[in-house]
Amino acid sequence: MADVEKIVIIGSGPAGWTAAIYAARAKLEPVCYIGVPRQDPAPVLPGGQLMLTTDVENYPGFPESVGGPDMMAMFQKQAERFGTRVIGEDVVSCDFSARPFTLKTSGGREVRAEAVIIATGATANWMGLDNELRLATSGGGVSACAVCDGALPMFRDQPLGVVGGGDSAMEEAHYLTKFASKVYVIHRRDELRASKTMQDRFLNEPNAEVVWNSVVTDVTGDSSITGVDLENTVTGEKSHLPLKGLFIAIGHTPATGFLVDSGVTLDDAKYVKLAGRGSETNIEGVFAAGDVADSVYRQAITAAGMGCQAALDAERWLAEQH
Ligand code: NAP
Repeated sequence: MADVEKIVIIGSGPAGWTAAIYAARAKLEPVCYIGVPRQDPAPVLPGGQLMLTTDVENYPGFPESVGGPDMMAMFQKQAERFGTRVIGEDVVSCDFSARPFTLKTSGGREVRAEAVIIATGATANWMGLDNELRLATSGGGVSACAVCDGALPMFRDQPLGVVGGGDSAMEEAHYLTKFASKVYVIHRRDELRASKTMQDRFLNEPNAEVVWNSVVTDVTGDSSITGVDLENTVTGEKSHLPLKGLFIAIGHTPATGFLVDSGVTLDDAKYVKLAGRGSETNIEGVFAAGDVADSVYRQAITAAGMGCQAALDAERWLAEQH
């Protein structure tokens, strides 16, 4: 039988590393499973979504901005400094029906743990076009987060596009109207999914426009985006829209596949459902933090805050068990 870990942290974004820093400093000797890189269709890397972000300008403490991957390397170093053990494997399934809990990993290990923090994040959905993903990963002006990247100088006073018709698309598009010369929301239907309030907020801006019944068939540009090729979903007509930035807002997918059959309650959109007290889930001893349990804020700073809460909640819960 494997030794029983006091606490296992699954995930290596801001939530996971912050949980690890707090748990390690509390002498809980955490083990952090950081995941294995894969393509889906954009790269999904240990470190999470910040690994695909060039400049992080909104994380306090970095007045001159910081590269996303640099920031995650610093988080990891800080967690390791206090003794976090880091394992480059995925957790592929969990059995929370009996304590200690049993986790299985992609490396074939069976890990037993008294407490678990789930911090596996969520990935932005992409259209899946080759040029979209190439320009998104090379800093070429394609992004899945306007709040993260929209204020960069390259987008100032330029025509920008947002793909999607939900609340996120409206929120991102409205945010961009502050910087852009013009913001086009490109939507595949003739009706927005977003709430009326969110729609109005965007549509009332003088530089807002919706391109209805349209799908993006390609993104043009070598090192930076120059525009998108469009196809009208009703008439089949093809056109080109010149743009200097494109923001994809077609939803997120939380990384919770490994929790199917674990007993952890997920919501309709498959995010971990918090039980209402801090980071607690429906299972005692299992905590969740960051984007895997938050479809609303989805920021590095909010994920880090939730990671801190989860470590404190787990520490308190473990103390009550002994
Ligand atoms: P969402 O509601 O699922 O909307 C996704 C949008 O993307 C839909 O309009 C959908 O089109 C479109 N879409 C999906 N796949 C596409 C594809 N392959 N190509 C082109 N378009 C595609 O996702 P969300 O906007 O991220 O919102 C997620 C949840 O968070 C919602 O419950 C939302 O209310 C909430 N939220 C709330 C706020 C707020 O209140 N401040 C802000 C953001 C998000 P169709 O409409 O045709 O399906």
